[in-house]
Amino acid sequence: MANIPYKTYLTEQETPKQWYNLRADMKEQHAPLLNPGTLEPLSAEDLYPVFCEKLSQMEVDETTRYFDIPQEVQDYYKTFRPSPLVRAYNLEKALDTPAKIYFKFEGNNTSGSHKLNAAAAMAYYAKEQGLTSLTTETGAGQWGTALSMACAFYGLDLLVYMVKVSYEQKPFRKAVMETFGASIIPSPSDTTEVGKAILAKNPNTGGSLGCAISEAVEKSMSDDKCRYVLGSVLNQVLLFQSIIGIESKLAMDKLGEYPDVVVGCAGGGSNLGGLMSVYMQDKLLGKANTRFLAVEPASCPSFTRGKYAYDFCDTGRITPLAKMYTLGSDFMPSANHAGGLRYHGMSPILSKLYHDGYMEAIAVEQTKVFDAAVLFAKNEQILPAPESAHAIYGAIEEALKCKESGEAKTILFGLTGTGYFDMQAYMNYNEGKMSDHIPTDEELAQGFATIPNTGK
Ligand SMILES: *Cc1c(COP(=O)(O)O)cnc(C)c1O
Repeated sequence: MANIPYKTYLTEQETPKQWYNLRADMKEQHAPLLNPGTLEPLSAEDLYPVFCEKLSQMEVDETTRYFDIPQEVQDYYKTFRPSPLVRAYNLEKALDTPAKIYFKFEGNNTSGSHKLNAAAAMAYYAKEQGLTSLTTETGAGQWGTALSMACAFYGLDLLVYMVKVSYEQKPFRKAVMETFGASIIPSPSDTTEVGKAILAKNPNTGGSLGCAISEAVEKSMSDDKCRYVLGSVLNQVLLFQSIIGIESKLAMDKLGEYPDVVVGCAGGGSNLGGLMSVYMQDKLLGKANTRFLAVEPASCPSFTRGKYAYDFCDTGRITPLAKMYTLGSDFMPSANHAGGLRYHGMSPILSKLYHDGYMEAIAVEQTKVFDAAVLFAKNEQILPAPESAHAIYGAIEEALKCKESGEAKTILFGLTGTGYFDMQAYMNYNEGKMSDHIPTDEELAQGFATIPNTGK
């Protein structure tokens, strides 16, 4: 039928040797991180107590266009990269669309998601600095798993604060992390001041990512050989995830293809920021006019209904302030939300690009997301993570528009991971028990009320 193969892999020689820093090509930079006490911009040095030095420097670097991937990280990447670029012929046929649909599949590693790309780099730089341990938070568990794997590989101890509801619902996730040697604490916990305070206020809380972040940051500050790492949102994470976009572009170049639209799910923005990085570079340099589409849950609609403002990255209000699209650091998606992407904020880089009109966003109810997940699973034979299914939904919508207009557009989306640990959500969906919750303006207003008034 076609001269384009179902799967395209790069050879070891072709795989990228550098990460790409999109900030170096942005016309305007996002507003800097601020010290929440003084409201002064933070330098790399200011971040050293929390992040390891190299990562702190990368976090604030607006000018270095390419960073060499250390040989040790390249070697580690070989254990699970390159990932395939897949032409979704089966899905195209099921949709009867003239569109060409491609996806980059990042779920082919034990963590089950793209998060290992960043975990590998972060654990490496921590080890290089002579640190002995890391702390982090995890929600659904993909990030904690990825970091457990990377810490095991580089010989670092890891303490993971796992959002309590996930800890209770996903015991197998915990077991995987423990197998790789990590210690897991359900959050909020009484191991930190911030956790104790949150428990005192709300003893029955199931926790949130924002709260687990507060605990992990506090814990890391109490040990000089320990630092904190975060699996999304940050500029350094988008930098490491650029490997997804660079590989995609190299593979599509080989096929003589270029996307008209790039689609990704958006939680904190790291996979989408990585996938679109080099295509956005072309757009910023006037070489292409690709559309970029972020797909988020209707129950946690940071882009589409959030405010563009300085806000805390955590519930305990101990992190720096970031200017981003936010629902307020106290915001919690409704309890029936099973689709992931629950974070209240969004990458400052993506927030700036969205604010300046370089990107679009849509919010989708979870039942529609699972409809898309199941259609995709039946045709492409991969059980997607609910998070990834947001991107599938977006790609299907674009393909159906092509069917109406008769245009044969080229669509590229990020399939970030697999859903083996999300079977409760799939069971609810299969049994017709899944419902949607779209927060009312009044509900969102409660979260907005917690956004600090910085005057900036
Ligand atoms: C964490 C995660 C996401 C969302 O995070 P981003 O930073 O927005 O990419 C999406 N898909 C999977 C499978 C994840 O684990």
